[in-house]
Amino acid sequence: MINKLSVLALALFCATVVMATTGLAQPFALPALPYANDALEPYMDKLTVDIHHGLHHQGYVNNLNAQVKTFPKLEGMTLEAIMAKVSTFNAAVRGNGGGHYNHDFFWKSMAPAGKGGEPSAELISAINYDFGSLGELKKQFNQAGLTRLGSGWAWLIVTPEKKLAITATANQDNPLMDIAEVKGTPILVVDVWEHAYYLSYQNRRASFLNQWWPLVNWNEVNSRFAKALR
Ligand code: MN
Repeated sequence: MINKLSVLALALFCATVVMATTGLAQPFALPALPYANDALEPYMDKLTVDIHHGLHHQGYVNNLNAQVKTFPKLEGMTLEAIMAKVSTFNAAVRGNGGGHYNHDFFWKSMAPAGKGGEPSAELISAINYDFGSLGELKKQFNQAGLTRLGSGWAWLIVTPEKKLAITATANQDNPLMDIAEVKGTPILVVDVWEHAYYLSYQNRRASFLNQWWPLVNWNEVNSRFAKALR
């Protein structure tokens, strides 16, 4: 009996750990960074990463879990499912749910400089078709981030028509939300909230955007692109 209970307890414990480490299922939890907190230097400094991940992102996770307690219909929903119906919830679910999704996606969009690989042949071919060149894509992506008034995000997405497109969202909104003006499957994102760059770049958002590209985890973007085309 004790053995059976121990096995059950262990199974429950493992299931909880698996759920927690996936990050996007409940209970929502802060995913560990996929690199050391100083690994993005000099393009993104350690203190910025520490505060952004440990305080800002953690705050969205905590606030989202608090919302689950007050809205029974949120219980058991994945974050993606919440995004798809976000118009049916309050501003706190939209802001903190988006905050958790966007930051998780942002951390995974980056890798230490030199470790992120290159765009795949398939992705380059789509980029050339939809933008003309990788340089032009970067230019338009940076422009979207730069002209996003106030806080928000610039995204590279695959549209429902399977084309690449660039869009920017306000606050913690994202292209998965039912309220998004431009909907699609995100494959790359940059955070243009001031907390993402202020300590190193102060008010120079354009400079941050220009210097951010060596951190792009193209291996991850390639994999997201292939998945979005399926
Ligand atoms: Mn942020």
